[in-house]
Amino acid sequence: MTMLQLPTYDDVVQAAERIAGAAHRTPVLTSRTVNEEFGAEVFFKCENMQRMGAFKFRGGYNALARFSPEQRRAGVVAFSSGNHAQAIALSARLLEIPATIIMPEDAPAAKVAATRGYGATVVTYDRYTEDREQIGRALAARDGLTLIPPYDHADVIAGQGTAAKELFDEVGPLDAFFVCLGGGGLLSGSALATRALSPGCLLYGVEPEAGNDGQQSFRTGQIVHIDTPRTIADGAQTQHLGQLTFPIIQRDVDDILTVSDDELVACMRFFAERMKIVVEPTGCLGFAAARKMKDSLRGKRIGVLVSGGNIDLARFASLIGA
Ligand SMILES: *Cc1c(COP(=O)(O)O)cnc(C)c1O
Repeated sequence: MTMLQLPTYDDVVQAAERIAGAAHRTPVLTSRTVNEEFGAEVFFKCENMQRMGAFKFRGGYNALARFSPEQRRAGVVAFSSGNHAQAIALSARLLEIPATIIMPEDAPAAKVAATRGYGATVVTYDRYTEDREQIGRALAARDGLTLIPPYDHADVIAGQGTAAKELFDEVGPLDAFFVCLGGGGLLSGSALATRALSPGCLLYGVEPEAGNDGQQSFRTGQIVHIDTPRTIADGAQTQHLGQLTFPIIQRDVDDILTVSDDELVACMRFFAERMKIVVEPTGCLGFAAARKMKDSLRGKRIGVLVSGGNIDLARFASLIGA
């Protein structure tokens, strides 16, 4: 067995320097209503206001900024129908690297258009009969492209960790911190920052109930694979944690919690109505879990990572209802 080289907090610090000027330093919002509801101080790190609408720009840009001149010339390839695709496409445009994004042929037209709009070449595949990882690897081998996966990559993890670093740099140590969990890039990066900057903070990863592979993995000590879960949290429809993200989560995270789709919708509505922000379902995972356990959080200082805001308005309206 080969020893995997796990990223460290030092990599997060370097990532922060690398993305400075390219990524936004997103605002930390507070709400008097939430503080009263919780009897606590709650700080929302708003990555829905990050470039392209989600924290994924941080990891994508950090990974591409580390390419060698040869890698830059040949280009990058990524497979995703969601925020990772747009993060790689935008980062590639800024760094003048050719990008190929592999998307399912039935991906929402708006997402395909947004990805093309950043100048990327979109290659479509049939998600029922073709394997996107195989297509990615074949293209990478044929054209010398570098494949950047959405979460299981040291530079991606380090980049994602910069959001938590900014939060602690701004508000100081916290008692508890709630972070959305899909494949674990965001949570493992946040864990590196948390253990360095607020070592005593309780750190929670939060998944959709229907896709609790991370919770099962955390409890059993083995990476558990599941079928693509049915949930409105499309950014957390991952089937398993990564070879790099899992050991960091196991070492540095206190627990993995789950929330239902209804609880996510209640949070989307709250964010829109009371805080005037649009948050996609996946971006509500952290707040939904914090709300469920607010009785145990009285008098504490709490961080909530709001991971993204990409949702089309018709879908947003139909989810929150009238
Ligand atoms: C990708 C994504 C997540 C999950 O991140 P992982 O690094 O895969 O755990 C959460 N929220 C949003 C908005 C995302 O795009």
